[in-house]
Formats: sequence, C-alpha cells, structure tokens
Amino acid sequence: MGEEEVKRAFCEMCHSRCRVVVHSKDGRLAKIEEDPSYPLVDAVFPPTRACLRLKAVKEEFYHPDRLKFPLKRIGEKGEGKWEQISWPKALDEIAERLKNIKGKYGAEAVAATGGTGHTHEQFLTRFLNLFGSPNFVGASTICSAPFVTTSLATFGWSLRHRIQLSLEKKASTRCVLIVGQNPQESYPRIWKSLRDAKEKGVKIIVIDPRETQTTELAELWLQIRPGTDTALLMAMINVVIQEDLYDKKFVEKWCYGFDKLAERVREYPPERIAKITWLTAEKIKEAAKMFALNGPGVSISGMGLEHQQNGLEGIQAELILAAILGYIDVDGGMYLPGPSKCITEREMELSDILPPEQKNKQLGADRFKLIAWPGNDLFEDKRVWGKKCGRQRTIVLAHAPTMYRAILTDKPYPVKALITQASNPMLTQANVKIVYKALKNLELYVVCDYWLTPSAEIADYVLPIASWLERPYLSTGLAYDNWTVCGEQALPAIMPGEYEHWTDYEFCRGLGVRLGQEEYWPWKNLEEVYDYQLKPIGITFKDFMAKGGYDFPPNEYRKHEKIGFGTPTGKVELYSTILEKLGYDPLPSYEESFENPVSTPDLAKEYPFMLITGGRFMPMYHSEKRQVDSLRSKHPHPLVQIHPETAARLEIGDGDWVWIETTRGRIRMKCKYFDGLDPIVVHAEHGWWFPELPGEEPWLFGVWESNINVLIDDDPDVCTKRGGGWPLKTALCKIYKVKQY
Ligand code: SF4
Repeated sequence: MGEEEVKRAFCEMCHSRCRVVVHSKDGRLAKIEEDPSYPLVDAVFPPTRACLRLKAVKEEFYHPDRLKFPLKRIGEKGEGKWEQISWPKALDEIAERLKNIKGKYGAEAVAATGGTGHTHEQFLTRFLNLFGSPNFVGASTICSAPFVTTSLATFGWSLRHRIQLSLEKKASTRCVLIVGQNPQESYPRIWKSLRDAKEKGVKIIVIDPRETQTTELAELWLQIRPGTDTALLMAMINVVIQEDLYDKKFVEKWCYGFDKLAERVREYPPERIAKITWLTAEKIKEAAKMFALNGPGVSISGMGLEHQQNGLEGIQAELILAAILGYIDVDGGMYLPGPSKCITEREMELSDILPPEQKNKQLGADRFKLIAWPGNDLFEDKRVWGKKCGRQRTIVLAHAPTMYRAILTDKPYPVKALITQASNPMLTQANVKIVYKALKNLELYVVCDYWLTPSAEIADYVLPIASWLERPYLSTGLAYDNWTVCGEQALPAIMPGEYEHWTDYEFCRGLGVRLGQEEYWPWKNLEEVYDYQLKPIGITFKDFMAKGGYDFPPNEYRKHEKIGFGTPTGKVELYSTILEKLGYDPLPSYEESFENPVSTPDLAKEYPFMLITGGRFMPMYHSEKRQVDSLRSKHPHPLVQIHPETAARLEIGDGDWVWIETTRGRIRMKCKYFDGLDPIVVHAEHGWWFPELPGEEPWLFGVWESNINVLIDDDPDVCTKRGGGWPLKTALCKIYKVKQY
C-alpha cells in the first residue's frame, strides 16, 4: 500500500489559474481542495471549491475515452483505424518526416497551431524557431494579441492583462468600464473583484449588445449595435475632450499626438454616433462623463471587442480614453507591470535565433503586420524594460486563414506538415470547410491532445499529452506581468500498462533532440527547466515551492516618471508612430463591418438577423468538456439565444431545434428564448461537437452539426486590417425551424 501524497498544483482548466491541493494514493487521484495557503484563494467566484469543472476533474481524468498511448493512423485519413505505437518510435518517425519535408520544401513548410494557453506552448515555438519556421498560428489572433499588441504600440508594455487582472481590493478605483465582456462566465477572478467593487460603491459601466449578469450589476448599460463599439468609444473621447474633462497635465507631459486625436474625434459627435450604435446621444455623454468624473478608472475589454472586424481600432480607442483621463499606472487605474525578474516564457522561446530571412516568410505578415514579426520588431519594450513583453506564441503569430489557404494552394509557398497542440482547429477556427480540406491535404498532421477530437480523427499521429495534474507549473507572469508562481506535479504521468502521457515539453524536446537541437534542450524535465528559469532570483523550483511558490511584487506606480514609456517617442502614443510605420492609420477610426444590414442591405433581405458568437458559458470551456457526463448533463445541447418576439414571428418554440444559415453554410442548435437582445440579433454558442457520435468520417463526432465556425467567414479580406482576426461578432444569418417528423 503506497503513501498518501499531497501536492499543491495549478489548475489550468481556465484562465483563473487557481492553486489547489491534490491528494493521491498509489498515484491515483483521491480528492482536490482549494489551497488555503495561496494568497489568491479568495479571489475567484464561485470559490475554487465550488467550481463545477474542478468537481468533475476525477471523472475527466479517468474518463475511459481519454487517450492513453500514442496512436498512428493505419487506414485512410479519417477512417478511424489506428495502431498503438511507443512514444520513442512515434517521435523517431515524426522527426524523420519533418526532416524530409524541410529538405524538400524548406523549414517554413512545417507549421503549428496553439490554443488558449492551457499548456507550455513556449516550447513549441522554441522548437519551431530552432527548426527555422515562423509559422505558429493560434487562437491568440482573436484573443489577447489584439489587446497586448495595441497596448505595446501605445504604452511600450502591456497593461495588466485580463488574465492576471482583478481589481485590487485596497485600490482607489471609482469606476470600471467593461467593453464586451461577461466575466461571470469567462473570468471568475474579475467577476469576484467586480462584485466586491460594486459593494464598495464603485460605478460600473457595461457596453454589450447582450444582457448578462454583468450588465445587471452595472450602473449604466449601453446596449449597443453589434460591431459598433469603436464608434462609441471615439464618441466618448469626443465628449471628454469637448467638455474639457481630460487630464491636461498628463496629456501635455506624457502623451504624443493629442491634437491629431482631437481633430479625429471631431468626426464622432455623440449625435451622429447615436444613430450608428442604436444608443442615444444623452446616454453616450452620460457614459463618458461617468467614466471621466469618477476617476481613477479601469477599463476592461474582452472578446466582445477583440472579435470585431474593427476591434483593434476599438481597443486603441479604449486605451486612449483611459490614457487621456490619466488612468495609466496610477493607484486605482490600469497598471503597467513590466517583466518578471526570472527568465520569462518569452525568453524561453529563443525568438532571436530565427534567421531574418525565415522571419520574412511568416504567413500573412505582409498584410497583418501588428500581430506578427513586422510589428514586433518595432516595439521598443526591451529598451525600457530590458525584456520583450508577451509570448511570441501569443502575439507574434502567422495568420491562420492564410496558412490554411497555403496548405490548399501552395501559395505563397507549400505548407506540408502541421503540429496541433492544445487546440482543435476543426472547432476553434473559422470557416471549417476550408480548415477540413486543408488538414486532409497535409503530408503530415500530428495532434497532441487528451482526446480523439474531430481534428485528431484526421491526423496521422495522435499523442496523449499530460494534463495539468501530471506536470509541474511555473509562470513568470506569462511574460506580460511581473509575478512568478509555481505548482507541483500532483500525479504520475505514466502508469505502466495503463497509460503513458508525456508533457508537451518532453514532446518538443524529443523532436528537437532528434533533429539536431540537443544543445538547446539540456533540461531533461520541466523541474530542471524551472530551476533554470528561477536562477536569476537565486532559488530552485523545490525551494521556491517550499517558500510558498509565489512572488507577487507590490505595485509601484508612475514608473514613467523615472523611465518613460517604451514607445518610439517615450510617451503614450495617442497617435501611434508604430502603426504609421506599418502603413496603418495611426489613429482609431470606425468602419462598418463587411456584413450587416447597413453595409450589405441586399444580403440582409435574405439573411435578416445579426449573428454574434463566442460568448462564454459554464461549465464548458471552448470546445472542451463535452464528454464529461456530469458537466454535459448541466448543458446538454448547443443553444442559440433568440428574442421571443422574433421566435414567435418565426413560429419557433422555446427549446425547438432551429437551422442557423449564413452564406457559408448551415448548422442547427436549440432555440433559447432570451429577451436581453435586440430582436434582430441572435447569439449562438461556440465549440460544439458530440463525442458520443462516431469519430470516423463522415461523422467526425458530429463536427458539422452545430459548430458555429462553419458559418463564420475567414477570408483575409474580411479579417481585421492590423491583426488578421476573423469576425465572430458580425455575420448575417437566417433562422428557421428544423422540420420534425
Ligand atoms: S476551472 Fe475552476 S478551479 Fe480551475 S482555474 Fe478555473 S475557476 Fe479555478
């Protein structure tokens, strides 16, 4: 009988990153509790112990469908025929095939996809940089990179990112502006701090076309027309300037381009913008004044903004609004943290080793420059902070839609191999019909996952990856922030004869060593890697854990007074010289989206409803958890929210299955009556597949049934100009009842 072990691990199932205490016996999970020794133990709502996903962790970990050993395809792609193979043999074969592809087409013919930061993707980018490929694509193009890169261009470092954000308990924040986010479903830590703030009397303004738990908390809710946030934020800047409400001292001394900004926002009077946004001029003025007169304030934006075709301009406007009010790097305002003292995730990526001629080949970077190498090479973060901000894998991305087209057309050059890590492109990438054809067209497709997903079903190799419970954890502020936190490995990743999971690090190192990169992979396991990363603060991983396993340096404000801002002008760039150099408009401006009743009125006659998607919903996390019975039973079906008046007009009952159709295809979901939307707007859930259906083609676990990304366009012509994100918040659709017999 083995000993009971108790470890403090980091739950990585969502961005709250709770530290938990894991009890095990004989290597088997016994129970999980929240970690009372961790300073952020009270920071999430519901508390960690009440988290539904955490409660289901045993069921998920020991689920009979979880991948146990590496698989190699033996039938046709998608036929569902596999043979078990050992890890070393799988890596030998994959490495050999990658070497051949590189020899024939160049290193850039090998690409990789990443997800939402569930694992150590910095090692995959390290592998790619050493291999010579600039082509890592991922969800970050539509999540996080727009905010971080716009922040970098404006301030020279990223403002504290929403992943790390909670409103400081003792801070003097008096107003919070939330643009397109419902943290109750997406960020339990922000949600908890928002509720606490509300109790303290902090004013909350929410911009969102949908009524949510967050809009219910708000003093002021601006129920906006989807996709018009940029126009609204520009009108709010207009009010702040016209009514002389901005922080003149800060603007004069620390901002660049105020006059040009003032001239630009004259084009955005509230009276004109009211018509565009479906708001009233009075409400726009009220919001602007509330945010300006109740300083210091914090503005938080989410997917609602990042998913818009005009979203990067909107983020720029949001940041400018906070800046001219003097809310940057002050107590109660928006914090500029700077880097961790340890070796960061960004440094582990070895970005500088990628030769310039390979960087220049990054797919889509000639057009979508801000979230790619051309933008990154202009950021001056290192000059002021001594390090680069953000992970390459989250902010220096190749353009996914361009990559899938390159796989299909060999233009601008062939892409023949793809490694998918912590992502599931058949669910998470827009325009799934193209993604599917591209994945089938690859010479080599390798998927690292916990499950056979619809993407894995068309792979050549599927590798069972260790989960957060089976690997130690270290984060140096994800290379955006200055804190460092650790967690222990709680369970063995290998149970002989039962399962053999390898960490993503072991996978990347295994490939690297086989491809001549030995000298760059000296650490045999993650603990050795973490010893190396912690070296600058003179401590080992074990000792750091023994001391608590966290370091949260106290906030230090107004650092610009000593070091300036890390931008080319050394100031907050209201008028961005970096955007100008990249050939973009240096100031924000609003444009109608590619498809809506205003820009395409003829199309709107046939497809009269405005479709938005991407809103988070518990207990799912993107395309995950559908096979975990206790969670699925709480949310068994894909739902589309439709206003009852609209539904009645279409003779659709609450709970009826309906078709949602765009010019790109149709899928079906269950109608959920919801009167918190304008009657012409519908909101459909994302990430739906059905692991209970067969995996082999044509089923692919029902990936074509209710997958909203079948309906979303990803044509480079409709992607965000600066960053290449695909528009998830502005499509036109029709809705009709599924015929039942
Ligand atoms: S899934 Fe639950 S326990 Fe895990 S990080 Fe998120 S809120 Fe915390």
